[in-house]
Amino acid sequence: MPCAVAAISDGNLRSVSLTLADLVRTFEDRYDPAWAESWDAVGLACGDPRAEIRRVLFAVDPVAEVADEALEWGAGLIVTHHPLLLRPVHGVPATTPKGRLVHRLITGGVALFTAHTNADVADPGVSDALARAVGLTGPLRPLSPSADEPRRGLGRIGELSAPVTLREFTAGAAKGLPATAAGLRVAGDPESLVRTVAVCGGAGDSLLGAAREAGADVYLTADLRHHPASEFREEGSTALVDVAHWATEWPWLDDAAQLLRDTGIETRISTAVTDAWTFQSFEGST
Ligand SMILES: [Zn+2]
Repeated sequence: MPCAVAAISDGNLRSVSLTLADLVRTFEDRYDPAWAESWDAVGLACGDPRAEIRRVLFAVDPVAEVADEALEWGAGLIVTHHPLLLRPVHGVPATTPKGRLVHRLITGGVALFTAHTNADVADPGVSDALARAVGLTGPLRPLSPSADEPRRGLGRIGELSAPVTLREFTAGAAKGLPATAAGLRVAGDPESLVRTVAVCGGAGDSLLGAAREAGADVYLTADLRHHPASEFREEGSTALVDVAHWATEWPWLDDAAQLLRDTGIETRISTAVTDAWTFQSFEGST
């Protein structure tokens, strides 16, 4: 990495720091902000590029629980997948949840950087990490290739090393992903055999058609809704696995942290489960 490394002596401990600008350059080399969707808000949300950073926390969501963890651990930077300020704001007063979070981060000397849709379409990107987590070990290709560079794109599709039943595939996927209250919901015959697997980290119902056209036996993604899922199942045999949104993107955090592997910077991946859904009830009258 072409950047200056400043060593700081701290008693017997010797820790390494990089400037925030250096770190941003490292992340943007892999996750080019130009690849982000036009509606997206990626990059630095707060932080001074001249700040020296020694600890970087990786998390899916920029929420209060993650800010608590960063402040407690002494992180100088939080890297998240989701943007804090996706829609334009006219101020960040501490009277709103997002404003309060910005105040806490700035007061605590913590920068916030986001790689969102630019990380989704990167090679490797968010769906590569998801694909590996659910058991795909072989070559992967984008489900919806980017027009300018077909190696990149949304979603991934690949083959399992051997066919397994949908039940077995789902059990393996559940094991490979972090646990959530929502768990995994499946649509399909549990005994049907699956080999070709399509995945998309985050809300992936826009790729339902692409998954079918690509010949997927099963499509695993998040935030599937009743009507698109029901109509999709009526039209063919591709099974669906719906996973908690947070869990589909969490595996990517380790990939992003690996970018700092050789720098000596301390990294930590937040295990705070920040999925929106926190418990389920299965009681029913029928
Ligand atoms: Zn997401």
